[in-house]
Amino acid sequence: MYEMVIGLEVHCELNTETKIFCGCKTTFGAEPNTQVCPVCMGMPGTLPVLNEKVVEYAIRAGLATNCKIREISKQDRKNYFYPDLPKAYQISQYDEPLCENGFLEIETQNGTKKIGITRIHIEEDAGKLIHDKEKGTLIDSNRCGVPLIEIVSEPDIRSAEEAIAYFKKLRAIILYTGISDCKMNEGSLRCDVNLSVRKKGAEQFGTRTEMKNLNSFAFIQKAIEYEFKRQVELIESGGEVIQETRRYDQVSGKTFSMRTKEDSNDYRYFPDPDLMPIITSKEKLAKIRSEIPPLPDERKKVYVQNYGLSSYDAELLTNEKEVADYFEKAAHYAQNKKTLANLIITEVLKLVEEDDIKIPPKSLAEISNLANDNKINSSVAKKLIKDIWNKDVDVNEYVNKHDLLQINDKILLKQYVLEAIADDPKSVLDYKSGKTIVIKSFIGKVMGKTGGRANPVIVTQLLEQELIK
Ligand code: ADP
Ligand code: MG
Ligand code: ZN
Repeated sequence: MYEMVIGLEVHCELNTETKIFCGCKTTFGAEPNTQVCPVCMGMPGTLPVLNEKVVEYAIRAGLATNCKIREISKQDRKNYFYPDLPKAYQISQYDEPLCENGFLEIETQNGTKKIGITRIHIEEDAGKLIHDKEKGTLIDSNRCGVPLIEIVSEPDIRSAEEAIAYFKKLRAIILYTGISDCKMNEGSLRCDVNLSVRKKGAEQFGTRTEMKNLNSFAFIQKAIEYEFKRQVELIESGGEVIQETRRYDQVSGKTFSMRTKEDSNDYRYFPDPDLMPIITSKEKLAKIRSEIPPLPDERKKVYVQNYGLSSYDAELLTNEKEVADYFEKAAHYAQNKKTLANLIITEVLKLVEEDDIKIPPKSLAEISNLANDNKINSSVAKKLIKDIWNKDVDVNEYVNKHDLLQINDKILLKQYVLEAIADDPKSVLDYKSGKTIVIKSFIGKVMGKTGGRANPVIVTQLLEQELIK
């Protein structure tokens, strides 16, 4: 049996107004090559000046992920030929990154797990190559010099689910700190997956491959599953994994070799002589710390302790700040926060995959209260959310007008139960002979007869009584 070992490198564009070493704007989607100057174009003789906001934002990310912040940190040149970075080196950080030794926590099937964060450093982004069928390859330098942080995890991740949980948590934390919009489709959040395999119980790590720039949760999942299988099959058939960079192809769902991996000494890193060391005083650190708003885990803790939610559900609600804000507003009106949380997790989160939340928090709380008071059943509650999505209606009026109130009347329900039993003598025999699962089909029939309004608990009780008679 093999297990996978994964470490992620995540690049995140910071949403500062201006670039990391010049005053050019960073707005996404501007006309190509309109947000450039001699500094970010890499003209000889120009001098970079570090944007203080970049340092502040990176420190925010570091503090939010429990990192130690270096008092003195430096910037280095990473040399290689990039067609989209005219200087032919990238200013990054090598051996003295701004932030180190942090961690974040994810929820797994076996409870909470810590994933180590090796380092967070600042660097500049490269431009963009546009491959045009008629004109050939064009270069847009607007992105040259857009500030990035790179967040490198320890190889602590052991499954695709954990990788995604980590990436989602990191994204949530960054969004809460306000330093990036984390738009994966615009490239402001990009993920490289490093993966190796080893026999379960082995101490040594295997040789890893790196899959670059995976830009959706689904691709991360698929790329990991494919690459794990590929490496295991390779080893089992007597082959050897080589350290290389691989590309994930969305269409075939496979990974392909791009190039064997450079070692860091190939980059000829050296300290950038044009830039001063970055010095972070205790006072400055304290100020940045005081500016960080409550983070997902802090809110999660409140939901678990005060509202009785499971850690897992609380994690789902805090993944997006808007959802957490919404939940808290609605919770203000809801008698039972668990019922409310369930409605958000099972219904609202599905609907917001393609939309903003289009139901006022108070209305959702009213639905939750009706369900909690047994006035509507849970399937009606869910359907109601869909029905009044994006409509401005009064929930209680709507429920009355559409006759959605739950039927709790035992005498009335018993009539429906007896009818359903009389309609299907064969299933009654099945039930009596031990196939108790057929009770589901009877429940379904009673629901059908009552327009979905029957109280399912009472119906089940009545059926259990009547079916054995
Ligand atoms: P590089 O910059 O050359 O990609 P790093 O030392 O920054 O190298 O590591 C990159 C990532 O690879 C880290 O997230 C680390 O956790 C992960 N990693 C290192 N060794 C392994 C391994 N054997 N298997 C899986 N992941 C690994
Ligand atoms: Mg790497
Ligand atoms: Zn510029």
